[in-house]
Amino acid sequence: MIDFSLTEEQQALKEMAHEFAEKEMRPAAAHYDRGEEFPAEIMKKAFEAGFLTSTVPAEYGGGGLGDLDTVILSEELAWGCAGMYTSMMANSLALTPIILSGTEEQKKRFLVPVTKEMTFASYCLTEREAGSDTTSIRTTARKNGSEYIINGSKCFITNAGVAGLFLVFANAAPEKGPRGISAFVVPRDTPGISIGKVEDKMGHRASNTAEIFFEDVPVPAANMLGREGHGFLAAMKTFDRTRPAVGAAGVGVARAALEYAVAYSKTRVQFGRPIASFQNTAFTIAQMATEVEAARHLVRHAAWLIENGKPSGKESAMAKCFASDVAMKVSLEALQIYGGYGYMRDYPVEKLVRDAKLLQIYEGTNEIQRLVISREVIGPIVK
Ligand SMILES: Cc1cc2nc3c(=O)[nH]c(=O)nc-3n(C[C@H](O)[C@H](O)[C@H](O)COP(=O)(O)OP(=O)(O)OC[C@H]3O[C@@H](n4cnc5c(N)ncnc54)[C@H](O)[C@@H]3O)c2cc1C
Repeated sequence: MIDFSLTEEQQALKEMAHEFAEKEMRPAAAHYDRGEEFPAEIMKKAFEAGFLTSTVPAEYGGGGLGDLDTVILSEELAWGCAGMYTSMMANSLALTPIILSGTEEQKKRFLVPVTKEMTFASYCLTEREAGSDTTSIRTTARKNGSEYIINGSKCFITNAGVAGLFLVFANAAPEKGPRGISAFVVPRDTPGISIGKVEDKMGHRASNTAEIFFEDVPVPAANMLGREGHGFLAAMKTFDRTRPAVGAAGVGVARAALEYAVAYSKTRVQFGRPIASFQNTAFTIAQMATEVEAARHLVRHAAWLIENGKPSGKESAMAKCFASDVAMKVSLEALQIYGGYGYMRDYPVEKLVRDAKLLQIYEGTNEIQRLVISREVIGPIVK
């Protein structure tokens, strides 16, 4: 049986998240966007509401949300402010490898404390020379007795400047290529870690994005997730799990743009009529609404597949790619409906355009998503 309705718990979660987005995030979004300031006070409230540890299983003190719950939550929070949402989501991204690949002891040691005291975590994969090609990372982890010594640097790392915990991908056996990549949990106070340039970004300006350097950073072997060489698989399994939430953020941004466009088109009068009464505007809005619905269905279906343990790599990639493209397209349409006012910072839609763009880039660009999708759809090509 197909059932598209939300459970009572999911409906309550959606309402709770919406109220938070509307009361705490929306009113402050323009302020933090303009100042490119980290919204510490709002994050404190988000922590108290459980949004920073929502995907941590309940037995370790987290929210224990399933994949469908997570996309419902993500849509609402990104509707409030995509930049603030990115900081919250980056926490889940960094904690997911521990949830998926950590031992019982590691889960207790790393997950329980972050549910007790507000802690930001960063997922440290990208490097200057290794973006889409994650297999070519140059950060190394040299075994030294019961420790690994990490050397290298990462760039574009969300939360890096505020994080207490880093999930670092480093190669423990460079001669083995990607099969040497391993994942390590590295507390911020480990000697040898320094934060570099904080990026001045086009959008998501309420989130902190920075470079991070590792110089002879000693990490106990007990902080490695899985066995040596398991890191690349851990990174890919993490993305398969978290990409629908990026899609959901796209739905949230697109829905916000649609709502603004509808409201504006009913009040803006030209040629003696509200612009909503021009067929061009009305049909554009109809198309925007259709695409938001389509994106939401793709996102929820991908989340449903994951939650039910079914193969989901292709659908996760489709959800992320399609929904972030919808966010880009719908926010641009909303800006056009606002006309010249849409171009001005006094109005909310230009921020949505800037925010939508990043969703097409991080957690794997949409070209990389199309690579994942096409490989699965086409299968092996016999020459
Ligand atoms: C604000 C922000 C926050 C981020 N947060 C994090 C984070 O927390 N942790 C983290 O590890 N990373 C993070 N990233 C990095 C992000 O995941 C990378 O920017 C992204 O994966 C692309 O890598 P790149 O920027 O090096 O682009 P490149 O890989 O250099 O790509 C450049 C262009 O080439 C295209 N391209 C590359 N390879 C192919 C191919 N095989 N086929 C077709 N097209 C291709 C790309 O799609 C893109 O259009 C963040 C990035 C930004 C901008």
